[in-house]
Amino acid sequence: MRALTVTPGVKNSIKLAQIREPVPTASQALLRVREIGVCGTDMDLNQGFYGEAPPGSSYLVTGHESLSTVESIPKNDQGISKGDLVVPTVRRPDDCINCQHGESDMCLTGNYKEHGIKGLHGFGSDLAVSDFNFLVKVPSEVADVAVLLEPMSVGEKGVYQAFKIQERLLWKPRRALILGAGPVGLLTAYLLRLKGLDVVVTATRTKDSVKAQLAQRVGGTYVNTIEQPLQTLGKFDLIMEETGSAQVAMQATGMLNTNGIMCFLGIYAPTEAPEDIGSFYKDVVLGNKTFFGSVNANINYFRMGLKDFVEIQKRFPGVLRDTISMRIAPEDFQKAYSPNKDSIKTVIRFNN
Ligand SMILES: [Zn+2]
Repeated sequence: MRALTVTPGVKNSIKLAQIREPVPTASQALLRVREIGVCGTDMDLNQGFYGEAPPGSSYLVTGHESLSTVESIPKNDQGISKGDLVVPTVRRPDDCINCQHGESDMCLTGNYKEHGIKGLHGFGSDLAVSDFNFLVKVPSEVADVAVLLEPMSVGEKGVYQAFKIQERLLWKPRRALILGAGPVGLLTAYLLRLKGLDVVVTATRTKDSVKAQLAQRVGGTYVNTIEQPLQTLGKFDLIMEETGSAQVAMQATGMLNTNGIMCFLGIYAPTEAPEDIGSFYKDVVLGNKTFFGSVNANINYFRMGLKDFVEIQKRFPGVLRDTISMRIAPEDFQKAYSPNKDSIKTVIRFNN
């Protein structure tokens, strides 16, 4: 069968290979993969920055964002049967206390595995396997956009955690700032518009770009920070940092309202900065401000994402569909690895 593989640690090793079909274990479903989404993590894997092949394998099948049809599945209490459409979660738990309580996204040890990233093959192949306890059943009404569920789950977790933390006080957020208009940033914008917040999305593409239009179609405001500096945008009750730029993140810390909360979702490169940290800490104290990080998402956030997809489809028709900027065949995978200025989310379609 066809599989998109990388050799971990080797730059530009991505290729469409022929490999043997996987054989599911007693706790696994066999999945016929419909499509996978390609994201920054996949680019990093192909740069050799990280990635770990399963034990005994010289390669890693990529693809952690996916949508599949169940080809076969053992008897289960998840209500999933052959022919169902499913999205598998990415991370598989280890034996730490959080993992053992359904919070593998909060893993204490780092010994978890991740499909398509760390120690388990991904879903970028004609057939794939996943533990059936980590499959989310997809209703047909959102089938054409369900490949976006994994990036959505990351936004869902960040937003859920922010609101959860803010139960510490009476909090009626009005203005939200989303730094970065990649797929996770845009999906977070749709989500926060559902929650009724005024949403400002910032990035560096022009105001007539598709990303800008998508932010506006849900009633958000798009700001090109090349034309309008961040500091002119005022204060915000909730800030979601999704650019992964330490400089942008640092600038934005000063834009948080009293009692506000800021969530960091990027993977930041080492960056030294001569900031006045004393004034920053004073501002954090006097304003009761909260800063926190969020990574990955457990199955609960995937389920929340699905519910919100149904709502987003009703409130903002076509927006999720248009967040997928290109669908290509596996043979054309290089297109996904050389994004252009109109790219948002590229999806690779393996099977119908
Ligand atoms: Zn763990």
